[in-house]
Amino acid sequence: MSPTDTDMGTGTGTDEGTRSPAPPPLHEVREVEEGVYAYLQPNGGWCLNNAGILLAKDGVVVVDTAATEARARMLRQTVQALSARPVTVVVNTHSHGDHTFGNYLFADSATVVAHEQAAAEMAEHGMALQGLWPGVDWGRIELSLPRVTFSDRMTLSTDGLRVQLLHIGPGHTAGDVVVWLPDHRVLFTGDLVFSGSTPFVLMGSLTGSLQVLDRLRALEPLHVVPGHGPAGGPDLLDMNADYLRWVRGLARSGLADGLTPLELARSADLGPYAQLLDSERLVCNLIRAYAEESGLPPAAPLDVQSAFEEMITLCGGLPHCEA
Ligand SMILES: [Zn+2]
Repeated sequence: MSPTDTDMGTGTGTDEGTRSPAPPPLHEVREVEEGVYAYLQPNGGWCLNNAGILLAKDGVVVVDTAATEARARMLRQTVQALSARPVTVVVNTHSHGDHTFGNYLFADSATVVAHEQAAAEMAEHGMALQGLWPGVDWGRIELSLPRVTFSDRMTLSTDGLRVQLLHIGPGHTAGDVVVWLPDHRVLFTGDLVFSGSTPFVLMGSLTGSLQVLDRLRALEPLHVVPGHGPAGGPDLLDMNADYLRWVRGLARSGLADGLTPLELARSADLGPYAQLLDSERLVCNLIRAYAEESGLPPAAPLDVQSAFEEMITLCGGLPHCEA
């Protein structure tokens, strides 16, 4: 979550001083361990999520898809270039459309698996995310809901690769799942962890997220592939926890001073967190923190639409989305 973490090595070198820096690539593929790939979409901001590609002997497991038709097709082409075997399972780490809208492009061969709460949220919200960013070219997305759900944990019977799906939370949402490869010690966290961009707990829980991060640390992962931004090690868990503890402290002082979340977000000194992408999420995180400090249970529904409007007010416009 440091500024250097957001540098994806996109190559800004130029032999002409007048040439503007090259835009970041649409995606990058990193082989984290043999047959285990992180599919990254720089710069990891709004709707530019990560995915995972896991090659087993009997097929491919894909962890999350992508937000737009074009980006989901790029993911599918990348999978096909890495393996001729069919995608047998798509795991959705949570319900949000940037991680799930591309499911339908894998539905001919794959079973989509998610937590039962995530599946319910996907059915309830449908394509609502598209309404937040009407300027994005979403393409022709077909809603493809999970066909298999679970409540606590699931092990995929993939040949030659142990893949465990663990429901931990509430954290980012009420239905978060991490994908844990115990033999490789690789952890795909979904949006329970952000790297180089601001954590986001409006639809989940701040307190719950801190407990989640403790549980993820106890797995002792070597590699952590976050929901957005560059992959790293377990230090990513600490960075997310540091930010969330800072938000909690800020919320307590704001409540004591009688400030609204928006007033507090406007006046807050973000310190090192000003360098994170999408720092406007602070107001949404404060809304969740205020609710929890006032006794609301974790992941209790909040008015998401009005929270987004507060964020738009804080930004002076729509948050930037490059999907
Ligand atoms: Zn999300």
